[in-house]
Amino acid sequence: MMSEIALGVFYHARFLDPAAQAALAEEIADVIAAAPLYVSTMPKTGAPMSVRMTNCGALGWVSDKERGYRYEARHPKSGEPWPAMPPLLLQLWDELARYPKPPEACLVNVYDEQARMGLHQDKDEEDLAAPILSLSLGADCRFRLGGTRRGDPAIALALSSGDALVLSGPARMRYHGVDRILPTVQVPLPPALRMVGVRVNLTLRRVA
Ligand code: FE
Repeated sequence: MMSEIALGVFYHARFLDPAAQAALAEEIADVIAAAPLYVSTMPKTGAPMSVRMTNCGALGWVSDKERGYRYEARHPKSGEPWPAMPPLLLQLWDELARYPKPPEACLVNVYDEQARMGLHQDKDEEDLAAPILSLSLGADCRFRLGGTRRGDPAIALALSSGDALVLSGPARMRYHGVDRILPTVQVPLPPALRMVGVRVNLTLRRVA
């Protein structure tokens, strides 16, 4: 069921059924095997982020104390190119993003029970006309969606396994974050990813 919860914010509850979640989890497990999870650090402070991450696609989002947020064609630890974007992700982008060009980057964020993501904008991309597509697997989280300015009022929603969220058009630059992982679990992570954490979020973007 799709609902436009705010202008340009399309929420597809349980877009992926359990079989599709399991298939996607297997593709992401392969990505993690080829491009191991790493801990990014915040610009300036060098504080470690609580999520662990990796990427697939031509470009990957990385961050460190010295050079800040940016996209790179190679894994920051191994120096290897990122693995190709799995076919399922390209297909989901076609179905959900409604954008004529394919995604160039998929950021894989892995949460344990304590992990969170501070309120931020996705603004390291040049192509701001393209939407952001977010897919959730595993544990429920409390997701916070603010406005386009930091102090704007925010709404909160629970994201569950299989949910898809698209930020497009006027919503592309809205602040967002993950307050916390919720103790409620509608559907646990599929077996292929259960060893890495409790929740996996995939964010597909165009960069250039
Ligand atoms: Fe983001």
